[in-house]
Amino acid sequence: MDSNASFPFVSPKGKPVKKQNFSRKRQAILEAIHSTCTHPTAEWIYQTLKPQFPDLSLGTVYRNISSFKEQGLVVRVATVNGQERLDGNLSPHSHFICDQCGAVVDILEDLINASADRKVTEQYGVCVTSHEVLFHGLCSACSQKSC
Ligand SMILES: [Zn+2]
Ligand SMILES: [Zn+2]
Repeated sequence: MDSNASFPFVSPKGKPVKKQNFSRKRQAILEAIHSTCTHPTAEWIYQTLKPQFPDLSLGTVYRNISSFKEQGLVVRVATVNGQERLDGNLSPHSHFICDQCGAVVDILEDLINASADRKVTEQYGVCVTSHEVLFHGLCSACSQKSC
């Protein structure tokens, strides 16, 4: 018999208190992404949840975001001014990015349709399964300021 056989593998005090707190944060981060249509940054999520979770770290926010992306719960829209912008809206849609203020706006019309996918598939010998369209320019607020 192994001399370590009496070693308690599971501590009776091993209540998953920390883990519970972790998943509460995880849930809050996911909800924060879904609570806005501004396509938030990790920094924004951190600032928004900090009052509710004073021990929250930016690293925790980043770790959860990358696991959400792996699980397909959120998508990355683009990197704007060095910050990754996230989207909780998983239905296919396009985006407009304001090059001045960094606003990311949903464009819900399907401007590039399935025939464009087919055309690229045929012309380039690839297999298109989806497409992303990014429009750039000035948002309505910024274009009013510059006029
Ligand atoms: Zn703007
Ligand atoms: Zn979007």
